[in-house]
Amino acid sequence: MIKYNLTCKCNYAFDSWFASSGEFGRLMKKKLITCIECNSNNVNKSIMAPNVSSSKKINNKNYKLQKNIKKKIIEYQKFIKENCRYVGDRFAQEARSIHYNKKETKSIYGRVTTDEIDELNEEGIETITIPWYDKTEN
Ligand SMILES: [Zn+2]
Repeated sequence: MIKYNLTCKCNYAFDSWFASSGEFGRLMKKKLITCIECNSNNVNKSIMAPNVSSSKKINNKNYKLQKNIKKKIIEYQKFIKENCRYVGDRFAQEARSIHYNKKETKSIYGRVTTDEIDELNEEGIETITIPWYDKTEN
């Protein structure tokens, strides 16, 4: 079921329920939709402007939020780069080595697969994953 706001040429506005938008179109073509006020079939679907603009606002908000998150991640990346040792693809091995030998206190960062993260977590090795933006990406 779908609800449409309808307006008649007599300026009367009313709501009506239809099985689907296709059903509405079919009835419209056959001029079977009539105004409940003046009985004219000169009825049109009203454009629901307030809804259109509010959904746009939400999208803008999401876009801003995404931009903020990305900014935070980039700041976090910078912090990690300054304070941690980069181990590249050897992250899992290095993390284990730190965990079992306890020889290094400096944190490490590098690339890791989701399988490796699962394995590390099972071994009780804590990892934090964040999305990583390359500098080339804007
Ligand atoms: Zn009317």
